[in-house]
Amino acid sequence: MTGAVSTGDLVTWIRAFRDAVQQHKEELTALDSAIGDADHGSNLARGMDAVVAKLDTVPASPAELFKTVGMTLVSSVGGASGPLYGTLFLRMGPALATGGTVDAAALGAALRAGVEGVVARGKAKPGDKTMIDALLPALDAWDAAGDDLAAAARAAADAAAAGRDATEPLVARKGRASYLGDRSAGHVDPGAASSTLLLEALAATVAA
Ligand code: ADP
Ligand code: MG
Repeated sequence: MTGAVSTGDLVTWIRAFRDAVQQHKEELTALDSAIGDADHGSNLARGMDAVVAKLDTVPASPAELFKTVGMTLVSSVGGASGPLYGTLFLRMGPALATGGTVDAAALGAALRAGVEGVVARGKAKPGDKTMIDALLPALDAWDAAGDDLAAAARAAADAAAAGRDATEPLVARKGRASYLGDRSAGHVDPGAASSTLLLEALAATVAA
């Protein structure tokens, strides 16, 4: 099985991410209270609720879907993570051909375009203790897994989780956590944790 997803499947992924963010809201906020301002869980939950409210009708294409998700996140989430997650989705759409289904190579390329957008906007480097420490390893695992969509998404989610865990000892160099200097070490980065939920939700959706 190589596999491809429809726009409806991608809506299922976005809904699953919303559900995961709701389930882990307190945990994300606890991580952000250790090294930030304790709003990451509520920021993202509010944003994803706004996104899901716009998806009663399935968008015409994957590109349209990601545009709606990105624009809604930019306009409804404050803080650093709204523009960054918004950029991730806004950059994914144009990377996809219009209409039709999306296979592993196309979705991997779209995710890469999205993450490159996050890097361009946030200027974080690997090891700065941010969401890209989960997302960048996930992209490489995705590409290495080949053309089986379920296997690629599983590998990406696992790599994201490892990247998330590896943020714990790091000293933050971007965002609010960087204000803490060395005291930011010893805690997992909240954005790396939520990014892992995003890829876990995708793996669960395409495995179903
Ligand atoms: P804020 O920091 O404004 O309160 P959130 O708490 O919602 O926003 O999100 C914090 C997360 O955003 C961090 O854990 C980190 O992963 C991510 N982040 C912050 N700044 C950057 C950046 N410049 N580049 C990439 N990710 C960043
Ligand atoms: Mg915060």
